[in-house]
Amino acid sequence: MTSQTILIIIIAILCFNELLSNVLLYLNLKHNPQQLPEELKELYTQEEYQKSLAYKKTTGNFSFLTSSLSFIAMLALLLTGSFGTIAEWVNGYVSHPIWQALAFFGVLMVVNDVLTLPFQLYSTFVIEERFGFNKITPKTFVMDKVKGVLVGSILGGLLGFALLYLIFEMKQQFWIYFWIVISGFMLFMNMFYTSLILPLFNKLTPLEVGELRSAIEQYCQKVNFPLTNLFVIDGSKRSTKANAFFSGLGAKKKVVLYDTLIKNHSTDELVAVLAHEVGHYKKKHIPLSIVISTLQTGLVLFILSWFVFNPLLSQALGASSLNVALNLMAFGFLYSPISMITSLLMNVLSRKNEYEADDYARTTYNGEALSNALKKLSTDNLSNLTPHPAYVFFYYSHPPLLARLRAMTK
Ligand SMILES: [Zn+2]
Repeated sequence: MTSQTILIIIIAILCFNELLSNVLLYLNLKHNPQQLPEELKELYTQEEYQKSLAYKKTTGNFSFLTSSLSFIAMLALLLTGSFGTIAEWVNGYVSHPIWQALAFFGVLMVVNDVLTLPFQLYSTFVIEERFGFNKITPKTFVMDKVKGVLVGSILGGLLGFALLYLIFEMKQQFWIYFWIVISGFMLFMNMFYTSLILPLFNKLTPLEVGELRSAIEQYCQKVNFPLTNLFVIDGSKRSTKANAFFSGLGAKKKVVLYDTLIKNHSTDELVAVLAHEVGHYKKKHIPLSIVISTLQTGLVLFILSWFVFNPLLSQALGASSLNVALNLMAFGFLYSPISMITSLLMNVLSRKNEYEADDYARTTYNGEALSNALKKLSTDNLSNLTPHPAYVFFYYSHPPLLARLRAMTK
């Protein structure tokens, strides 16, 4: 095996990924049945249906454009050996190998952020604005960017430092030690994300006493769900789109409802949405997904340990000798077919879990209220009501609306 062969394999993987994602996007864009299925007909007026198709077309074309541009840029960087050039340029300014690697990734991230900024601006202030979703002010947008970069560099820097330190100190055995570090970190994030990170970006307030709170408490008592933390988040600060989620483990668990969700739904529908979230909890979906992603991480790190000291990987990216940062990057490309398969499997599992949570809400509360809530959510968000089955299979973590409605009326 030569470094040339590795570069060819990397480019082949890149081309395959790009081709696959574009074929799926194309199939999905063209998949617009003349007639909506019976259950969905009353959801949109003809005018709204046209608007949802226009939204799908605009966002689809936009993601085709951005993915093609980043594909071309990546191809050019690989073919010219620019990653090696950048890494060796950084090494001229920094002497310690750990800091060299962190500085290399830092430079790439800054360049990437600057280059993708115009596209983010266009997506938020032109596309989302045109369809009436955008609520974010330029000030919030800038603050989000600043806070995002800060949080990302602190957390990413700490984890990156730990990874590189262990690679240099423990050599091939690093993967076991870093596996422990990263698993601890993921568990910590799962427990404290809502209390530590989320408040930096949003305001969380306990749901006020009233009809909704009493209805929720009554339901929780009935299904024996110890509800201690029930919060409303100011999602309306950024978008009119609505959501609800569950986070944390054990006593740290929290249920979070978007203010946009509360605004547009009846009490019955909101309790049904909450019942769905309780369903995830009762069916142990959260610990299950933590266990699976921990095992998955272990596998990635174990395979990485075979590659991380092979100088051919650095040479494939244009360097003259071994550079751990470049090896990590090359590994990212080489591993992507496997990660595509694992994420596909995770989506299969996640869709199954969604049916289970829906079923839990239907049996312990009210299937019709949940159906109504799901319908409203889909139309308010201009969701694609008729996605292509192949697109759903690859990318959807939730089953499409129609499948969920049908499963609940069985
Ligand atoms: Zn769910």
